[in-house]
Amino acid sequence: MSAKTITCIGCPMGCRLTVALENGKVTSVDGAGCGRGAAYARQECVCPTRQVTTLARVRGRREPLSVKTAQPIPKALVFACVEEIHRARVAPPVKIGDVVVKNVCGTGVDVVATMDVAAVSGDGGAADLHRLPGAPVAFETDGGRAGVISWPAVRRGREGFGKTPGQVLT
Ligand code: SF4
Repeated sequence: MSAKTITCIGCPMGCRLTVALENGKVTSVDGAGCGRGAAYARQECVCPTRQVTTLARVRGRREPLSVKTAQPIPKALVFACVEEIHRARVAPPVKIGDVVVKNVCGTGVDVVATMDVAAVSGDGGAADLHRLPGAPVAFETDGGRAGVISWPAVRRGREGFGKTPGQVLT
């Protein structure tokens, strides 16, 4: 039998949950202010997932496209997911909700656009692909924050404020 303390992220209350585990299974959850806490604790302790938001390259445009996973994916695949998205070249036009990467990392979850991008005229922009930094950009999760701070994040001065590029957030 082992115990683990986690913070529920189901609402701003942020209840501290004490989770008892036996043979990898959750046997009890204490400290939850509502029923969602127990469900979250079971998910987090047995198979943690995160929703990923990041940026993708767009053919013919300097500005990247903001995207997110349509559903949370296993936490262990977050970095592989970000890398797969960064390898993609999204062809405009794009509408919010369009699938830009299908079945990312074999999870069965698609990556969708969270903004519109108009069509591009000219040569399709093959010579004008925006170069994103090699490191993954900062991304949000449903568990608060996790990821790697990037230059864009630092420049925006929001999620990267006071952080160093390359710094790992957990
Ligand atoms: S257990 Fe319920 S009340 Fe507490 S943080 Fe989670 S969702 Fe909110």
